[in-house]
Amino acid sequence: MRYHTHVATSIAGGAAVAAATDVPFTITYVLGVALGSLIPDIDEPSSYIGRRTFGLSKLIKQAFGHRGFTHSLLAWIGFSFLYKAYPNPFVLGMSMGYIFHIVGDFFSRKGVPLLSPLSKKRFKSPLTYETGSFSETVIFYASIFASIYLVYSKELL
Ligand SMILES: [Zn+2]
Repeated sequence: MRYHTHVATSIAGGAAVAAATDVPFTITYVLGVALGSLIPDIDEPSSYIGRRTFGLSKLIKQAFGHRGFTHSLLAWIGFSFLYKAYPNPFVLGMSMGYIFHIVGDFFSRKGVPLLSPLSKKRFKSPLTYETGSFSETVIFYASIFASIYLVYSKELL
């Protein structure tokens, strides 16, 4: 999944969470979701975020490989401990964006190693899309539409 699709699907997911719970759909929350949705790909130096880490992502890729540990449930749980230290809407959004990124990659053909480092098995949805394909473009626009729909119908703003 390309970075803009991760951002769009994660914001739609974040809007759905805000609609279903009392999490407020604020700008700081949305910015957190957007940033969090990019972080798992820090294990790929050529990714949007990887190109902005001054070489750190190279080290992470060497250690874990692309779509390795940073795409696991354990990494997400560890990352979410940030919220314990900094319980604010931005960090909450980052944690949500992170898990929505993993969900997004779960629907891709390559799948994700959810149980890493315990198991290398990659999990994927029975229905998948190919990165950069027409279906990904559809997912991108559907997410934007879903976000706008949720904001208006649930009066999130
Ligand atoms: Zn990814």
